[in-house]
Amino acid sequence: MAVTTADVSHAIDGIAARWRADRPQRQARRHLDRADFDVLRDAGLLRLVAPVEDGGLWQGAASTFRPMCGIYRRLASADPSVALVSAMHPAVVAFWLASPDPAQPAWEEQRRAVFASAVAGEQWGTITSEPGSGGDIARTRAVAKAIAAEHVLVGSSYAVTGDKHFGSGLGVTDHMITTAVPDGSSDPTIFVLDVRDRPWDGSAGLELVAEWDGMGMAATQSHAMRLEGAPAVRLAWGGGLDPITRAAGPYLATLFSAVVLGILDEAIAVAREQVRRKADQLRAYERVEWVRAEQDHWVAAQAHEGALRSVEGGLPTASHDALRAKQAVADLAEQTLLRLTRVLGGGTFSQRSPFAHWFEDVRALGFLRPPWGLATDTLFALSID
Ligand SMILES: Cc1cc2nc3c(=O)[nH]c(=O)nc-3n(C[C@H](O)[C@H](O)[C@H](O)COP(=O)(O)OP(=O)(O)OC[C@H]3O[C@@H](n4cnc5c(N)ncnc54)[C@H](O)[C@@H]3O)c2cc1C
Repeated sequence: MAVTTADVSHAIDGIAARWRADRPQRQARRHLDRADFDVLRDAGLLRLVAPVEDGGLWQGAASTFRPMCGIYRRLASADPSVALVSAMHPAVVAFWLASPDPAQPAWEEQRRAVFASAVAGEQWGTITSEPGSGGDIARTRAVAKAIAAEHVLVGSSYAVTGDKHFGSGLGVTDHMITTAVPDGSSDPTIFVLDVRDRPWDGSAGLELVAEWDGMGMAATQSHAMRLEGAPAVRLAWGGGLDPITRAAGPYLATLFSAVVLGILDEAIAVAREQVRRKADQLRAYERVEWVRAEQDHWVAAQAHEGALRSVEGGLPTASHDALRAKQAVADLAEQTLLRLTRVLGGGTFSQRSPFAHWFEDVRALGFLRPPWGLATDTLFALSID
């Protein structure tokens, strides 16, 4: 078991090298393989986000956030789907990590339980998105009813009912967060669903409505589910969701950007080998597209760097910076892949080409929370604030 962040980093590099060698087979997958997640857990990846005082490896954003993002970036260069599902774990645990409040004992107790679960090797994810919500968690139509039940996590028990989609990692995750409006309230809050070993036939609160058939991030198992009285624990935070989501926002945006940047790193590296081999045959147009692809990749990396610095420094502009970086990386990644295919030719249209897969994989970033429309509304509001 890895004992430092550097150990995890080293182990992940070994894993990524093995996975990279297996790329064609991995890119053809439409499902996750639990063995991959066992290997990542054994490398200590799930512990990175849990504070040191809770037995994890997190020493604060200033020390651990950059290496953490670097690890997901390098993992994505080897297997984008596994990297995206894996990155959901710190992105979700960040809701507890980023909002300490010693004045709220119930919240602090739940935070400790969440961190203990990550240290124990339990994988977290999210199935929050709802058809028709446009990625806005405040627009949930799901409802939650208080129930008397035992749950693996500390907190009040509820039964959640509603339609959800895009639950990346379903089948390999142990806990997934979702949103719903609880009894007696008009505002939504977060609930933690215990999804481990739960059947998907509707007999225990989860019914598979549509299996994930994404053109990109094809193996993420981001299925749609009907929740019908699904057992859950309510977020123990006393107050509105806004401070929680605001504090976690920069972590989510930067982690997701890291994943897509990792794909871009690899696409550029693989393309460069091909460009080198046929450099003297390239037409002027192809040379221009290649130079612009490299330039877009460089700018995307700089945008990501800017977000990392803001989060590391705990800057008051971190939310704004991380969101701008996410949107910039999303735009630039799509542009870069488009240019690469023009340079490398029609063969990149084939499913046997890694570029056909990467082209669709990078498009995910613009749809990840907050998706294009919602992100743009937020950026506009911040601009005139
Ligand atoms: C690769 C990938 C992975 C993702 N992983 C996650 C994840 O792990 N967890 C998570 O919570 N989210 C995840 N998301 C979702 C993401 O965060 C956004 O919520 C999502 O992309 C928003 O989708 P949308 O813009 O289509 O809007 P949505 O409103 O979510 O979806 C609109 C779709 O719903 C249908 N629809 C059904 N009923 C209605 C209605 N009444 N009104 C309007 N439309 C309706 C429409 O036909 C349309 O197809 C993922 C997205 C992608 C692309």
